[in-house]
Amino acid sequence: MRWQLVAQVAFSRRAAFGHLATQLIHLGHQGIDALLLLVDQLIELFEQVFGIAGFDFQCHKPFIGEKVVVHSCIGPYFGIPVGRDHMLGLTLPKYDKLMHLHFTQKASGMRLLNVHFLFTRTFSCLPLLLAAALCLSTPARAAPDAGVWAQVQTHKPALLDTLRELVAIESGSGDREGLDKISQLIHDRFKALGGQVEFIEAPANAYRMHDTPGRIGRMVKATFTGTGTSKILLIAHMDTVYLKGMGVKQPFRIEGNKAYGLGIGDDKAGIAVILHTVAALQALQFKDYGVLTVLINGDEEISSPASRHELTRLGAAHDLTLSFEGSPTNSDQLSLATAGIAAVNLKVTGKASHAGSAPERGLNAIVELSHQILQTRNFSDPSKGVKMNWTMVSGGTNRNVIPAQAQAAADVRVERIEDYAGLESRISKTIQNQLIPDTQVAMSFEQRRPPLEFNPAQVAVGQHAQKIYSEIDRTLKVLDSVSGGGTDAAFAALKTKNPVLERFGLLSFGAHSNGDEYILIDSIEPRLYLAARLIMDFSRGLVR
Ligand SMILES: [Zn+2]
Repeated sequence: MRWQLVAQVAFSRRAAFGHLATQLIHLGHQGIDALLLLVDQLIELFEQVFGIAGFDFQCHKPFIGEKVVVHSCIGPYFGIPVGRDHMLGLTLPKYDKLMHLHFTQKASGMRLLNVHFLFTRTFSCLPLLLAAALCLSTPARAAPDAGVWAQVQTHKPALLDTLRELVAIESGSGDREGLDKISQLIHDRFKALGGQVEFIEAPANAYRMHDTPGRIGRMVKATFTGTGTSKILLIAHMDTVYLKGMGVKQPFRIEGNKAYGLGIGDDKAGIAVILHTVAALQALQFKDYGVLTVLINGDEEISSPASRHELTRLGAAHDLTLSFEGSPTNSDQLSLATAGIAAVNLKVTGKASHAGSAPERGLNAIVELSHQILQTRNFSDPSKGVKMNWTMVSGGTNRNVIPAQAQAAADVRVERIEDYAGLESRISKTIQNQLIPDTQVAMSFEQRRPPLEFNPAQVAVGQHAQKIYSEIDRTLKVLDSVSGGGTDAAFAALKTKNPVLERFGLLSFGAHSNGDEYILIDSIEPRLYLAARLIMDFSRGLVR
């Protein structure tokens, strides 16, 4: 049976907890797994927000319709000792839709924390339950803003034309010629909208990795100055994973509700949504923002060697960052967390020798490499979301020569940036233990991109986005658990506590695949409406 789980965490001491007064976490998983996942996330949230360690909040044998025991073993909590006395055992009501947990301080009777779990069987019930869960903080559903909605509708065909133009230019990350062409087009389009537009070339301190091309694509930065104070950053990328020449087989075409094209969802649609959001705001004569900055980079698919510093710098200089990667076609969503990705490259140098007549004079690099792979093969740590897997290996030159060279690469995923350092030092310590002492073992650890970590400041924006979506009768998921690949939102979030949210692009399918890539045409209006209304409300200080 499928369950939707919605949970609200409300803190009764609202003033003390400031913007955290109400947190909404909404998950689309199944039954009890979702509950456990949620509890994990709550622990993380508490640790982040209150800086408390050793917070232990466990769920024992929970099962819908049966007795559920949740107890807390909390350490010092704002100086208030709270212990096992506050263990709560509760039974779900017969209709098993709702579970309340209250954590109360024994001495004063003051309620510290309320957690409400709401279960529903069908997705269509979700808005109702969300409304119930948020009855204290959320006003009733408003009607769509007619002016914005009308603008968005006129931009739908124009956005498709923009996509046709963007898709017609092949722009693989290594194709500087194509990237020059598409960046010129993007430059001119933002210029035509009245922006202050500039190209930014790769800086001298670009983070070069083994696959970084000699000439990295340039960035386009556009700035629109308004009359207000809010600084909002919109980001997307123009490069694709595809090689030059593949576009012939996948030209732009429309079939029913799908618009096909190479790189259309990842991430040409992101550029198009930004362009037409800015255009729609101008048509509405909306200028209440302070600064609207747009950065379109040309190196995202190769882990942003040139743009990472600019993304981080701009992210820190803005109050809100919206990143326009696509959302999956089967899940209309925003993401508050994305994976951090690193690569471990291991290179062993031995000594060549005749494999038949003098193998003993050689140093077998493949044997040493095998030893290194085996002794680092279990470095994943599921409890922290750390994954490390050896994925590539090569070595040797001839069957009859003891190999002098061998190399391997491992893929690394993390959910918290601090886990990079621990893993890197663990690997470098471990590889000092060699099987063949005279071989040389060299390791490079490439931090390809940091994770986008869940940050409580994102929640108000995510909730507001849901509210905006509900105005047009759509449901938006806001996921705070890592799913899928890493994105540039993480670079933008690296040096700021301000909200950074991902997946404001169109609903899309087939990125990085051999199959055809497409976007859903009927996602254009909702996504334009969402971006435009969110920028408007944030500019007016209505998002809190
Ligand atoms: Zn992308």
